[in-house]
Amino acid sequence: MNGTRPGKIVCIGRNFRDHAKELGHEVPSEPVFFLKATSALIGPGEAIRLPVWSEEVHHEGEIALVIGRRATAVTEAEAMDHVAAWTLLNDVTARDVQRGDKGRFTRAKGFDTACPLSDVRLTGIDWPKCRLQCLVDGALRQDGSLSDMVFGPAFVVSYVSRYMSLEPGDVVSLGTPAGVGRLERGQVVEVRLLGPDGALLASLRNPVE
Ligand code: MG
Repeated sequence: MNGTRPGKIVCIGRNFRDHAKELGHEVPSEPVFFLKATSALIGPGEAIRLPVWSEEVHHEGEIALVIGRRATAVTEAEAMDHVAAWTLLNDVTARDVQRGDKGRFTRAKGFDTACPLSDVRLTGIDWPKCRLQCLVDGALRQDGSLSDMVFGPAFVVSYVSRYMSLEPGDVVSLGTPAGVGRLERGQVVEVRLLGPDGALLASLRNPVE
């Protein structure tokens, strides 16, 4: 991928009510978070390579924050002052391996190419009125309002920063709406952010090999 690599990628799990339900989970009472390896990063247009050891690799279209200023134990009121921009991420997941690993996400979500990241950096968006979508070969698979998030961006940044400092360039991904599903070789997966008026604000497209 081009540009500066983030020092870490923090991902929130089960943060959209409808996605927690589709995987048979309760909506969590506190954010659930994990790290994705930076070696998994690829940029727009680069190929997601399906690993030979998984039969079930899923897309998870996500909206993410890019940290602008170091955040250590910041309050919810302070949190957004530490965020530089919004972007898009695909939390590609080997679902079969994730199930077998019983809550340990490192193999299932950390393999090479499992983290497509947009190079678009958006500011000043009216996020509760935006929609996050994921399409495979142009067919809509995921479509959720950001207002369906259990924990909003300020709460998430504040919460994570109690446990680990967030540093400039770090990425915090806020979770995926319902509709996750399988990717096959030869497909193209696209994550989209739509504004309040339905206009396309950002798009992240990656072929699957
Ligand atoms: Mg995810």
